Amino acid sequence: MSSGPFVVGLTGGIGSGKSAVADRFATLGAAVVDTDRIAHALTAPEGAAMPALRAAFGEGIVAADGALNRAAMRALAFEDASVRKRLEAILHPLIRDESARQCAVAVAPYVVLVVPLLIESGTYRERVQRLCVVDCPEALQVERVMCRSGLDERQVRAIMAAQATRAARLAAADDVVDNAGSLEALQARVAALHGEYVQCAARGRVL
Ligand code: ADP
Repeated sequence: MSSGPFVVGLTGGIGSGKSAVADRFATLGAAVVDTDRIAHALTAPEGAAMPALRAAFGEGIVAADGALNRAAMRALAFEDASVRKRLEAILHPLIRDESARQCAVAVAPYVVLVVPLLIESGTYRERVQRLCVVDCPEALQVERVMCRSGLDERQVRAIMAAQATRAARLAAADDVVDNAGSLEALQARVAALHGEYVQCAARGRVL
């Protein structure tokens, strides 16, 4: 018997199409555990990370409603690498624990664990049975993020520069979802992978 659910890690650069791919896997019946969503919940009003964040960084990073003031936190972390380290030391273990809990209780043939910075953050690779990377040319990433967010090209490229390179992600991938084409093409590719993952998960259960 396998000890836990079959977990597919899903990653890709900003704007590559992770959310679009995860939504499609969910529609097909996979459980989706999203570390960004978990980070948001942890830093919402009453979020489990808020007492430690308040103690570490003071009232200045707490918004009127008790949630994390993201702009203030970003500004502090941007100025000071040690702040960034302490912030990560508070958030990352909580995100790890909560995502592991959600994976363990998922009721689905398999779990898609969405980790935007999976390549960059050592331990997630060990927690997934398979790594799926969403990929598209950088120019398309820039275009899609500008369209979605109102950031300008320089800002998008600065975010991309802080992420793993496209080559590093592709080198780590078991499966690649090429998202340079239409949403219809994307859906067909995701449907094919879904079939494979269902089979892999079922095989894991009888081994
Ligand atoms: P990520 O989660 O990796 O940041 P998203 O899934 O949010 O990326 O995709 C970025 C933007 O590009 C979204 O607005 C999304 O609707 C759009 N998008 C994603 N894939 C395609 C595609 N194949 N064709 C057109 N637009 C796309």
